[in-house]
Amino acid sequence: MLTVIWIAGVVVGFFALAYVNAAGWLWTGTIAAALAIAWGTHALPPLIVIVLVAILALLAIPLNYPPLRRKLISDGVLAAFRKILPPMTSTEREAIEAGTVGWDGELFSGRPDWKKLLALPPPRLTAEEQSFLEHECEEVCGMVTDWETTHIYKDLPPAVWQYIKDKGFLGMIIPKEYGGLGFSALAHSQVVTKLASRCSALVVTVMVPNSLGPGELLRHYGTDEQKRYYLPRLAKGQEIPCFALTNPHAGSDAAAIPDAGIVCRGDYQGKSVLGLRLNWEKRYITLGPVATLLGLAFRAFDPEHLLGDKEDLGITCALIPTNHPGVNIGRRHMPLSAVFQNGPNWGKDVFIPLDWVIGGQPMVGKGWRMLMECLAAGRAISLPSLNTGMAKMVVRATGGYARVRSQFKTPIGKFEGVEEPLARMGGYLYSMDATRTLTAGMVDLGEKPAVLSAIGKYHLTERGRQVAIDAMDIAGGKGICMGPTNFLGAAYMQIPVSITVEGANILTRSLIIFGQGAIRCHPFVLKEMAATREPDAQTASLVFDRALFGHIGFVLSNFARTIVMGIIGSRLVPVPDVAPETHHYYQQLTRFSAALAFLADVSMGVLGGALKRKEKLSARLGDVLSYLFLCSTTLKRFEDEGRQREDAPLMHWAIWDAMFKAQTALEGVISNFPNRLIAMVMRRTVFPLGRPYVIPSDKLGHDVARLLIEPSATRDRLTAGMYQPQGETDIVRVIESAVAATLAAEPIEARIREAQKAGRLTVKAGEDQAAIALAASIITADELTMVQRAKRLVDQVIRVDDFAPDLGVSEVRPLAVTPAAADAVARKAAA
Ligand SMILES: Cc1cc2nc3c(=O)[nH]c(=O)nc-3n(C[C@H](O)[C@H](O)[C@H](O)COP(=O)(O)OP(=O)(O)OC[C@H]3O[C@@H](n4cnc5c(N)ncnc54)[C@H](O)[C@@H]3O)c2cc1C
Repeated sequence: MLTVIWIAGVVVGFFALAYVNAAGWLWTGTIAAALAIAWGTHALPPLIVIVLVAILALLAIPLNYPPLRRKLISDGVLAAFRKILPPMTSTEREAIEAGTVGWDGELFSGRPDWKKLLALPPPRLTAEEQSFLEHECEEVCGMVTDWETTHIYKDLPPAVWQYIKDKGFLGMIIPKEYGGLGFSALAHSQVVTKLASRCSALVVTVMVPNSLGPGELLRHYGTDEQKRYYLPRLAKGQEIPCFALTNPHAGSDAAAIPDAGIVCRGDYQGKSVLGLRLNWEKRYITLGPVATLLGLAFRAFDPEHLLGDKEDLGITCALIPTNHPGVNIGRRHMPLSAVFQNGPNWGKDVFIPLDWVIGGQPMVGKGWRMLMECLAAGRAISLPSLNTGMAKMVVRATGGYARVRSQFKTPIGKFEGVEEPLARMGGYLYSMDATRTLTAGMVDLGEKPAVLSAIGKYHLTERGRQVAIDAMDIAGGKGICMGPTNFLGAAYMQIPVSITVEGANILTRSLIIFGQGAIRCHPFVLKEMAATREPDAQTASLVFDRALFGHIGFVLSNFARTIVMGIIGSRLVPVPDVAPETHHYYQQLTRFSAALAFLADVSMGVLGGALKRKEKLSARLGDVLSYLFLCSTTLKRFEDEGRQREDAPLMHWAIWDAMFKAQTALEGVISNFPNRLIAMVMRRTVFPLGRPYVIPSDKLGHDVARLLIEPSATRDRLTAGMYQPQGETDIVRVIESAVAATLAAEPIEARIREAQKAGRLTVKAGEDQAAIALAASIITADELTMVQRAKRLVDQVIRVDDFAPDLGVSEVRPLAVTPAAADAVARKAAA
């Protein structure tokens, strides 16, 4: 009996020490005490105790004395590591080392410090930024529609081009000292969000010069002369930039571009100067066809050693005026009928002086590092904001449509079948906006969130896609027939553009999120890898030893914490002062964070470099990290917005959905782990009592759907920042008016129905029920007007456009909502 109690005590002690990640001396002292107890109480036979004491002495002395530990253990492991670690190319290393680690590091730590997240100040706009959103952004949105740009101009109307240049839309990220708007990341994100809720050509045209490209690269790496010349011109739209990286033979594998620049001497402005002779072929280049300044990425070679010893200098970025001899530009692609400017460009034996390289000669060959370092900020803002803006408009308009469109005498939004996609749209949008805002806030705090921006790019574009698909299902034929009264078709068609650009989504999920996250966010892996490259043996030994034993403690601790939290349902995990209804979510997130850290370490330990090729496992581990981040942003939003009681269903839905998916991803890793024995241990560790999460409940989905189909402060908060058109014929406006009018008319119609039931009103087939009710004094003249107005507006909402047999746009009805469109139609008709 004593033996059983002793063993139980040892197990509890082990888990307690591992749980708190106890120091080596505490382990040694506790084990020594346990052996003393076993000796004193005869819990174990004396001989066994003596053997165990000998083993303890043998292990404890080197383990607690670092110089000996390094000699006997760490140096040997380091040598083995050096042999087995897969070789890393310089481009891989630059990609992995780029950017900063922040909240992603906490999520990977197994014990995220929630106080840190909650202490992040909610991002705020300055008065100037707020005014820009309320005036310039409102005005430009009012000047344009998607239908008009796509089907009449095949481009932004000239007046809109001029307006965005004049008002500085193309230079939001350029500092004020160079004539730009010098906006914060949050303001930049808000602008993109608003424009995206209006018109895809408008938002992409504004987004691209403010993302990774000439402006951003010049800001960080340009020579003073380049900055002084180009930044003011870019800020005022005197130069239209584009950035050309993609080659027909190198898309996702962008570092493999075959475009080349040979260092040589050549003539420029009548003088012989050192420069590069370029040959390139690019495609898919946004703004390329109208660009005046081509940012070009190519690989520089120096076969004649004019710059130094090296021949292959690496990827280099230069700025080339598009009117420079030999630059071919101007043709267009048609990306899913979107009309933002996009096209190929190429050049053969084009000579440029060396000082056209961004940053001049010292930056020749540093292009990949420049791109990787600058990628995070733009990626954190552009596509997450674009997709959130699009989703805001789609959610608001579809929710309204689902309220006013009735079938089987019921608004379609009240059918359970329709509630399901509506709930998903609402829950997704709540967490999309939360993620967009928090990530932009991090950029404003000086972070370059490499991993979190990849998560934002992937998950917000995927959610944007799902929102568009759900909306399309709900809208039925109304979403399918294109025309000025279709609020959805263009977004639905063009969503694959977001999925493909800035790192195609499959690649981002399979390679980048976990591949970069595991190395960057892990507290020890990067240090261990750095030690293998350290030339000084003494330093390498010291650094590696510290990292290795820290790592072992980390794994043990996460193992123990995952099991313990799994058994007690994580109820004992301390949580700061948060909304009581969210308290347990924080605890479960801590539990899943420990599980992720544990599974990641086991996967890296067992599979080593092969994990890189096991993309499905890597993608699922990345999914867990992603969902933990999405839950963090959702909870943070709920706190930052003052724990809005009425918004709680959106928050709960988003959390349950993400936690269920995180759990599915964990299970996916375990079920498919190549070593079945280890998989069994993983399952017992991560889910000792089974899986705790299910999909969001039907009741919760019902509550969310109801929030979307009727006006409320919650619906306004959910769609805040989108453009609300004022034009009486604009479909998004008409839906809003129809919802309000329908809700106002419904009690009147109910009274009419009651009167009919009570026999006070008889209406024959074909008669106008409301008019008869007025005659019978059941309703007033004002009420009749309200009923008729509601019917008229609903009728306007459900109508779709039709065209002449040749589908000519000349037939666009007065629904051509802006003066510019009406003008173009009139001109076309006159011609
Ligand atoms: C409308 C539009 C605008 C663009 N604008 C610009 C621009 O301004 N400048 C610019 O330089 N480029 C631009 N691009 C290019 C864009 O960045 C590329 O399209 C993108 O990098 C993908 O390359 P690809 O289309 O050749 O696809 P591919 O590289 O052929 O990829 C095809 C599929 O394979 C997947 N895949 C590839 N490798 C892996 C892997 N290792 N693991 C898992 N999956 C993988 C991808 O995820 C994708 O799903 C634009 C593209 C489009 C369509």
